[in-house]
Amino acid sequence: ERKDYYEPEFVQAVSEVLNSLRPVIDANEKKYRQVALLERIIEPERILRFRVPWIDDKGQVHVNRGYRVQFNSAIGPYKGGLRLHPSVNLGIIKFLGFEQIFKNSLTGLPIGGGKGGSDFDPKGKSDREIMMFCQSFMTELCKVIGADTDVPAGDIGTGAREIGYMFGQYKRICGTYEGVLTGKGLSFGGSLARTEATGYGLLYFTEEMLKCNDSTIEGKTVCVSGSGNVAIYAVEKAQMLGAKVVTVSDSTGWVYDKDGIDVALLKDIKENRRERLTAYAEARPSAQYHAGRGVWQIKCDVALPCATQNELTIDDAKLLVENGCIAVAEGANMPTTLEATKYLQEHGVMFAPGKAANAGGVATSALEMSQNSERVSWTFEKVDAKLKDIMINIYHNIDNAAKKYGLDGDYVAGANIAGFEKVADAMMAQGIV
Ligand code: NDP
Repeated sequence: ERKDYYEPEFVQAVSEVLNSLRPVIDANEKKYRQVALLERIIEPERILRFRVPWIDDKGQVHVNRGYRVQFNSAIGPYKGGLRLHPSVNLGIIKFLGFEQIFKNSLTGLPIGGGKGGSDFDPKGKSDREIMMFCQSFMTELCKVIGADTDVPAGDIGTGAREIGYMFGQYKRICGTYEGVLTGKGLSFGGSLARTEATGYGLLYFTEEMLKCNDSTIEGKTVCVSGSGNVAIYAVEKAQMLGAKVVTVSDSTGWVYDKDGIDVALLKDIKENRRERLTAYAEARPSAQYHAGRGVWQIKCDVALPCATQNELTIDDAKLLVENGCIAVAEGANMPTTLEATKYLQEHGVMFAPGKAANAGGVATSALEMSQNSERVSWTFEKVDAKLKDIMINIYHNIDNAAKKYGLDGDYVAGANIAGFEKVADAMMAQGIV
């Protein structure tokens, strides 16, 4: 555990998965040991780390670090987003890539696990600077990706604009027009409903989970954290299903809106004007802006963390329980610490892990890949209906997997078990590779 090799987020994700797989591992110990299955599944198939030089508007040259972790291709081409955020390092990309293996497996679609990104900070950059960065990033990344090998997508800091610039550079260098990225613009191979998919999918999942536990989303008070792609469409769908969402946040502060979040205003500020949440509070008399963090102190029935990893801590979990929260469903990847997850589960709060609850994004990306391969575009309604079916199936799969091992209601274990079993079978069938 030399400090330069220590990857806390990756270790946290692996510990969580392996601990909850204990009953499956015990039942198959000899079989797995013979082929070193666990040792192989926690080691990425390939890691690419590269230099990303780019020039800012003043002519100054900057150098960022780029990554692509191709973690597991047992059930399909690597698939997973590209994160652009100053906090990005190899450990974070490995944690995200590892989680992605099981999430992708849960969708029921043929996609392997991967993740990538850079420590580049897109905040405050001009369009031209973003383009310079994206082109430089893709100049290196294009050597290892392709429609049948590895298909990256968006994540924190990578939205439709960045995907567009990267797609343009891939086409220019490789000379092929193929579905090498998902989350593309609608005029060049993007899928309707991809923008909405993760947030909408989170709500389809939550609705089913509540329904199967004798409750409903309608009429509930909901707290959401984050105000990016996942958060915005989680707020929108929650409201469509009759819930009242009272909070959103970003990395500098949060908003409490007693009348419920005005989603049209939120979209305008974040998607069109690219401004901060302070602008929301200025435009809306019923809203209060607070600096720092604090979303989870607001009383709610359902909590949907949609910002980033480890944003819901043990103290937040205690507040949620105290305030009578009945369900937490993760829109972000691993937003709840291990300690907080355990506390919520022990106190009877339904807990839906991200790898199941936020799988709607990657599932719809896989639907985008299908449309690109067929060279067709489906209607919004068709994609949305498929997304809903997939999310309902995921809920029942993980619920059944938990029940099979006597762990009723433990959706963390259920998601890991259901996701793992399919990948493990495929890896064993394909020999020692
Ligand atoms: P965006 O970049 O669109 O939004 C991220 C949001 O989280 C912003 O409000 C951002 O605030 C906030 N945030 C980011 N980093 C931090 C931090 N360190 N502390 C506090 N707040 C932070 O990203 P997405 O909405 O796409 O992604 C959100 C989460 O969902 C991530 O965990 C991502 O991996 C996960 N996810 C996304 C999917 C998708 O389809 N987009 C699919 C599945 C999972 P600020 O603007 O101030 O940075």
